[in-house]
Amino acid sequence: MKKGEVVVDEILCLGCGYCAEFCPTKSIVISKERFSPQGHLLPEFTDPENCKACGICAWMCPHFAIEVYQSEGE
Ligand code: SF4
Ligand code: SF4
Repeated sequence: MKKGEVVVDEILCLGCGYCAEFCPTKSIVISKERFSPQGHLLPEFTDPENCKACGICAWMCPHFAIEVYQSEGE
């Protein structure tokens, strides 16, 4: 089964929350306490076990701040 690893560029992210809103497995959520250098609340990849590497979070990001890497899980 495909698994994903999500990396957020903390400089490019403006904290809009689209990635978290559209993630079908809720593997990514907006933090309540982690801020970017510009003061935006950052997304956190909290549930990697359920990430399907679908790439929706990256497609939805208007600031090209997300990279999704794919690996084969068991
Ligand atoms: S790749 Fe898909 S499942 Fe994984 S965090 Fe992004 S939207 Fe969610
Ligand atoms: S969609 Fe992009 S800019 Fe918006 S919170 Fe997610 S990573 Fe940041």
